[in-house]
Amino acid sequence: MRTCNICGRPKKDSKFKHINKKTCKRCEFRWKRSFLRLLVHDRRLSAKERIANRLGYFGTAFIMISPYLLPYGNIGAITYVIGGIVCIPQVWVAKQWNLVLVNLNVTIGYLIYLLYNG
Ligand SMILES: [Zn+2]
Repeated sequence: MRTCNICGRPKKDSKFKHINKKTCKRCEFRWKRSFLRLLVHDRRLSAKERIANRLGYFGTAFIMISPYLLPYGNIGAITYVIGGIVCIPQVWVAKQWNLVLVNLNVTIGYLIYLLYNG
């Protein structure tokens, strides 16, 4: 039995988060805090997710520069195709199927563009 330093009631050890806690779990509880914890539960990225994220930024850079390269021959379309392909693993791992479709569409669309205009 210990006494909480907020409510001043004697409580069992199980009512405290750990051995050195002076405040009981009930006094520590805040609705806003627990709601935010529920939304952002702590998770670490796996190696696969890390690689996919790096590739995603790489591909995004390619897609970002592509519109400015389009007037200069095929290079803009080629960077679009590369960017579209390289971005797919990140959105695939994250199961963002709409973005997988967008990236596939960019890749296929600019491959067709290259076939007929290249
Ligand atoms: Zn208390």
